Amino acid sequence: MRVVVIGAGMGGLAAATDLARRGAEVTVLDRAASAGGKARHVMVDGVGIDGGPTVFTMRWIFSGLFEDCGRRLDEFVELYAAETLARHAWRRGGRLDLFADVDRSADAIGAFAGAADARGYKAFVARSTDIFATLKDSFIAGQRPSPVELVRRVGLSRIDALWRTMPWATMWQALGGYFTDPRLRQLFGRYATYCGCSPFLAPATLMLVAHVEQDGVWLVKGGMKRVAEAIRELAETQGARFRFGTEAAEIIVEGGRVIGVRLMDGERIEAEAVVFNGDVAALGQGMLGERARRGVRDTPRAARSLSAITWCVKAPTGGFPLTHHNVFFAEDYAEEFDAVFRRRQVTAAPTVYLCAQDRGHGEVAAGAAERMLLLVNAPPDGDRGEPDPVVLRDIEARSLGLLHDCGLEIAMDSRNSVTTTPAGFHRLFPGTGGALYGRASHGATGTFARPGAKGGVKGLYFAGGSVHPGPGIPMAAMSGRLAAAKLLEDSATR
Ligand SMILES: Cc1cc2nc3c(=O)[nH]c(=O)nc-3n(C[C@H](O)[C@H](O)[C@H](O)COP(=O)(O)OP(=O)(O)OC[C@H]3O[C@@H](n4cnc5c(N)ncnc54)[C@H](O)[C@@H]3O)c2cc1C
Repeated sequence: MRVVVIGAGMGGLAAATDLARRGAEVTVLDRAASAGGKARHVMVDGVGIDGGPTVFTMRWIFSGLFEDCGRRLDEFVELYAAETLARHAWRRGGRLDLFADVDRSADAIGAFAGAADARGYKAFVARSTDIFATLKDSFIAGQRPSPVELVRRVGLSRIDALWRTMPWATMWQALGGYFTDPRLRQLFGRYATYCGCSPFLAPATLMLVAHVEQDGVWLVKGGMKRVAEAIRELAETQGARFRFGTEAAEIIVEGGRVIGVRLMDGERIEAEAVVFNGDVAALGQGMLGERARRGVRDTPRAARSLSAITWCVKAPTGGFPLTHHNVFFAEDYAEEFDAVFRRRQVTAAPTVYLCAQDRGHGEVAAGAAERMLLLVNAPPDGDRGEPDPVVLRDIEARSLGLLHDCGLEIAMDSRNSVTTTPAGFHRLFPGTGGALYGRASHGATGTFARPGAKGGVKGLYFAGGSVHPGPGIPMAAMSGRLAAAKLLEDSATR
């Protein structure tokens, strides 16, 4: 069977690997010059800096992909367990590290906010573990269920476990039950942004992200881009072929089923099936042809997930002991998400995430330039054009101002940094408006609005962060595995 995979993001790479391993003749196309999609390198002053995902979790998903090919992930990628998960600092005062070790984190929280919040933290860890256990096989690692199917998979006898996943409460409300210190509510509420959501709108179910981090954050030698390259190499060992700098213009549908792909230059590639790894919103907009659009809706602007403004920087820093993952919080979290999702602006005082990519499994000599990604949340309106340069400069100045107020100085200027705006992300990832995580999983049932692995046309399948089970590199890889499984199941019964 001939299969074309459009997109060499994590979902496309995983799908290609499984399909090739099971004997399909797989061609992977990507308009970009190399594998990884959002896991891309931005070149600054001659060096590659991870400009997309930086937090590597759920290693078991990647290990499974390699082991099913008879290989080991660590043959391809050097991983180091992070002892410090992240360092957090607040402008109004306070610094807190979270550790891989729960007791160590609880002690740190006790010293930071008091014994009640340390106890609250332990209860929170237990609850996030419980939510994850309930949803791991029933939701994350399975084909997309309907709400009724989810109840069936979890089992009526365990309906209380499903109730404890708290889809009816917002994450922010639920966190109030564990933490009295507003800074801790802010810290743990930020996990909603891992899925492109506001903690004020996302269901408390997303507290499971805390468990995912607690289960292991890994630092990758060569950065996240290396993970993508490793899966490309793995897929090649199984016989998949890659064509980069190659954009699909149309998924060709005849007689109600997929028969191939037409490229931008007019070339046709025949195939019995296509896995689309771009954002499904692009399909919904008809960007891959009217016929492939069947059964897929565009994502309404109001339902898009977060975008970001990022700066990839190579510069010396001083004044603050950076670790690999760092978060600098301003004071008003509610205002930050209200600005992004309702007023469609970057707030006056945005939270800044900073990944110091040379730290954590190596140190940086004093005064030496180091590689960093800085990120602030932004509205997904990149299809409305670039932000006003004056506004953009102001956001940059205010972000650096927050770092300064927390003690960190970065000698950053236009020569040692590259900025990516929502419009830039929109150009890289068509149909998205710069939304980086597909639809936002807001409300009790938002997560069920993501399509499953199968399109509305015979022979069309979906993989990636815009479909079930959701965004993030492990989840996107899981979606690719689910798409391959569904495709193979359908072809066996045809
Ligand atoms: C700044 C940023 C920070 C993030 N941080 C994290 C993090 O720390 N941890 C984490 O786990 N996740 C993080 N994420 C999310 C994570 O990167 C994504 O969820 C995941 O990588 C998406 O993978 P995907 O399979 O959807 O493919 P994508 O990465 O979206 O790639 C899709 C590919 O399809 C190609 N394509 C699209 N249309 C066509 C076409 N017509 N023809 C040919 N090719 C096409 C594109 O060029 C692209 O390469 C972050 C994302 C960003 C942008």
